[in-house]
Amino acid sequence: MSTIGIDIGGSKALAVRLDDGVVADERHTATQRGPLVDVALAAIRGVWTDDVEAVGVGIAGLVQWPEGVFAWGPHVDGTDVPLKALLEEELGVPVAVDNDANVAAFGERVAGAARGFNDFLLVTLGTGIGGAIVIDGSVFRGESFAGEWGHIRHDPGGLLCDCGKRGCWETVASGPALVRLAREVMSLNPEGSLAGRFGSRAITGEDVTAAADAGDEVARGLVAEVGSELGRGLANLIAIFDPELVIVGGGLGSVGESLLGPARRVAAEALHGGNHRLLPPILVAGAGPRSGAIGAAYLASTIRS
Ligand SMILES: [Zn+2]
Repeated sequence: MSTIGIDIGGSKALAVRLDDGVVADERHTATQRGPLVDVALAAIRGVWTDDVEAVGVGIAGLVQWPEGVFAWGPHVDGTDVPLKALLEEELGVPVAVDNDANVAAFGERVAGAARGFNDFLLVTLGTGIGGAIVIDGSVFRGESFAGEWGHIRHDPGGLLCDCGKRGCWETVASGPALVRLAREVMSLNPEGSLAGRFGSRAITGEDVTAAADAGDEVARGLVAEVGSELGRGLANLIAIFDPELVIVGGGLGSVGESLLGPARRVAAEALHGGNHRLLPPILVAGAGPRSGAIGAAYLASTIRS
């Protein structure tokens, strides 16, 4: 059977088509501002074939489950959009719409780092921070919106977040946080390596992580700083859930050890219990930034009529 999964984030959408569980096609699109249904349809049509039986959508923000209504998100246009109903009318196949981290958790359990695990947390790190809670093998949703820990109060009185509140965790641990740190360094040190590398052009989180990968010590320090803030928040989540495993996904999560090493160290220091407990493994997503789209396509396979 053939299903499509799409993952809509703040700046880009990834669509994959699975044929009998194997990725047969995938496309990245930059998300244009505009009606959410048009953004989703553009991504779906990029990989559409006439034998597609169902579509799954993961989207960054608050999604009412199982109605598939996108209620609100700080990084995506549209409020109270009945996306599942609109897409089913347009495409003529069953559609499931869920939070992006929830579908990523599904993808990781089926085809990633969480195979064989029943109790784990997934933290997506990109434009913001998303989260999914898996307990006894099922996503725990609360009433619908559980796991939105990107907006827990990490630094009271801190930076203004895209959600309108101050000091949210994602203001200091995300792609935009990395860019902000790089800009601060460049303005303080216009003769430094980062300023020499980027000049006055607009930069992205990927630019900074690429500089770190290329051995730029300043960039590596900034990635480590974001990793430390990641770890400080992870310690809180581990204190609440005591999971078997924590998976870090999303675009920034794929950076790997230069981010996760500092995160593990800070999480271990911050967590109560010291040497009397083990920190759960904190691993990069096995399906990488594709886990959301792949998970959405697997989710679709469970809802076809
Ligand atoms: Zn916020």
